[in-house]
Amino acid sequence: MSDEAGISYSATTDYHWTMRAFELLTSANLTVERHEAGGAPYFVVTGPCPRCGHHFADRQVTVALTGLSGPSRGESSDAADVVFLDLTCSCGTAHQDAPRGATGCGVSFRIGIEKAAG
Ligand SMILES: [Zn+2]
Ligand SMILES: [Zn+2]
Repeated sequence: MSDEAGISYSATTDYHWTMRAFELLTSANLTVERHEAGGAPYFVVTGPCPRCGHHFADRQVTVALTGLSGPSRGESSDAADVVFLDLTCSCGTAHQDAPRGATGCGVSFRIGIEKAAG
């Protein structure tokens, strides 16, 4: 695991990488910026890939969750306040064994961010 720059492409969705991404998020290495275009919110995620370590930037549009919260009948509606983004590495580096057209090391992971209030 010491030669991160030379790792081969692997289409993995191992939860390990989601955990690693969460660590990068909490240590502020990975950042998420919320933007809005024409009333539609989207998120720009930038930082090091949790697997290969290369810098990447990904733009994610969220369409779900709007209107899910509804009136506060239940007390535990925390889930509606978190947006999950499914990301795939797009570091732009040609990793070994990468298929044609691949833009990263192949890892897919998920990050959850709290929706900004208001
Ligand atoms: Zn990567
Ligand atoms: Zn990479």
